[in-house]
Amino acid sequence: MARPPKPVSGKTPARSSRTASGRTLAQELSDVLRVVREHSASFPQAADRTRISLSLESGARLELEVTGRPWTGPAAEEEEHVCLFHELVEPMFEAFASIDDLDLAASAKAGAQNLQEQFPNDVKFTSGRRSIERQASAMAPNVVKNRKWIEQTYKASPQRTALQKWVDDYPTATTAAAIAAGLEGVMKSWTEAQQRNFSRHITGDAFDVQPVAGAQGEKIKQAIAKLPKLNWHTFQEGGLEIWHAQFDT
Ligand SMILES: [Zn+2]
Repeated sequence: MARPPKPVSGKTPARSSRTASGRTLAQELSDVLRVVREHSASFPQAADRTRISLSLESGARLELEVTGRPWTGPAAEEEEHVCLFHELVEPMFEAFASIDDLDLAASAKAGAQNLQEQFPNDVKFTSGRRSIERQASAMAPNVVKNRKWIEQTYKASPQRTALQKWVDDYPTATTAAAIAAGLEGVMKSWTEAQQRNFSRHITGDAFDVQPVAGAQGEKIKQAIAKLPKLNWHTFQEGGLEIWHAQFDT
C-alpha cells in the first residue's frame, strides 16, 4: 500500500568497534534488509530498477539493486510544494519544454525568456501553465491517500477551503477519477483571479526550472530573484529542492 515516503533511519544497532569488526557480512546484510523491510515506503517502488548504495558502520559498502513491476498508475506528486505538480516524470523521458510549450502569460513568458537568454545552456523548464483538468488529476491521487491532504498542503485561502469542503462533503467519492471530477468542478467555478490565488500555474503566471548545482546554479538563482514583475519565488519547499517563480500579470 502506498504511503508518503518518510526519512529513513538506516543505522544498524549501536555497538562497539570491537564487535563491529567481528560481524559478518551476512549479519550486516541482515540488518540492512530489516531496515529496508521496516521502511519499505521510503524506497522507490515505481521504478523498474533502482540501485541503492549503502555505507555500513563497519566501513563496508553494499549496493542493492531493486527491481519491481513497471509503474502503472498516475505519476506520484511531489508533496508539500506550493505548486505540487512539478512534472518531473515528463522531462525524464522527453526533452524539456520550450518556452512556447509552457503556454505562459506575458509577464511569466518574458521572465522565462530573460532567464533563458542569460543562461541558454543551463536553464531547463519543467512546468508552466497547467489546465484545471490537469491540476485536478494531479491532486486527486493524493486525496485518495489522505482525505485532508488539501488542507494540510496548501496555504490557507478561500479556494483551499472550497476544495477541502468538497472532499469532506462527498465521502463516497473515493476513486481518483471521482475526486478529480469533483475538484475540477469546484475550480472551474472560480474566476481567473481566484484560480490565480490558488495556483499561478493555472493562469500561466508561473514556471518551474530544473535545479542546477554549483556556482552556475547560484547565479541562476540570483537571476530568478531579479526577474521583472516577479511576484514570488522559492527554491525549497517541504525539504525538496524545487525552483518555482511566479509573476504578476
Ligand atoms: Zn511551480
